[in-house]
Amino acid sequence: MLQFDVITIFPELIQQAVSYGLLGKACEQNLLAVQAHDLRAFTEDKHRRVDDQPYGGGPGMVLQVEPVVRALEEITDETKKVRKILLSPRGEVFSQVKARDFTEYEQIILICGRYEGVDARVLSYVDEELSIGDYVLAGGEFASLVTLDAVARLLPGVVGDEASLAEESHSQNLLEYPHYTRPEVFRGQKVPDVLLSGHHQQIKEWRQAQAEGLTQERRPDLWKKSR
Ligand code: SAM
Repeated sequence: MLQFDVITIFPELIQQAVSYGLLGKACEQNLLAVQAHDLRAFTEDKHRRVDDQPYGGGPGMVLQVEPVVRALEEITDETKKVRKILLSPRGEVFSQVKARDFTEYEQIILICGRYEGVDARVLSYVDEELSIGDYVLAGGEFASLVTLDAVARLLPGVVGDEASLAEESHSQNLLEYPHYTRPEVFRGQKVPDVLLSGHHQQIKEWRQAQAEGLTQERRPDLWKKSR
């Protein structure tokens, strides 16, 4: 079972978010476990402060190295294969390939920054910095949840029909073909005839052509990789 541990100043946010849908069900069925740890529980400051002003001046506050490293040391399970990750817009960008790689671990620790970020000395205690995209969030919590969600649905048993994982967007560097469900006609827009034909081979070919066409048009970078 994969154990996620999230270090954050907003543990309730993580705990709440993972109680819904697929993630909630997977936790109930013990296919994965998620625990959020309050960073403030690891400080010795009597006011439970975990941030301070940046050396050298400048705007904003910085999360201190000591509570983060203490949390990491307490949470790490030495008997497990562990990946320690600092969420950061400066990290390597998350991808489906990375999500798959993370399923090989038994414990993943996600550190959520806030304010201007985390004291740079934390970097010598983690395995990598991970970004979820080229934009800046107010904190690492949503980035953690994105990472967790993408990894969790690749774990055996979490998604009911695992065949759907093989065809979906990014699994073979292709975007997925479009889906339709009832009704057959909506305000004059009709479902493509081939999908109603019951001809499995033609449906398969139509879907492959759609996936390739969409990828060529929208994501030439992926299209190149898929060849
Ligand atoms: N001053 C930092 C910079 O310019 O690189 C940005 C700090 S950001 C306001 C606060 C925290 O949000 C970061 O420490 C990180 O944990 C998280 N964060 C923001 N954007 C992110 C992204 N694209 N991917 C992952 N984490 C992100």
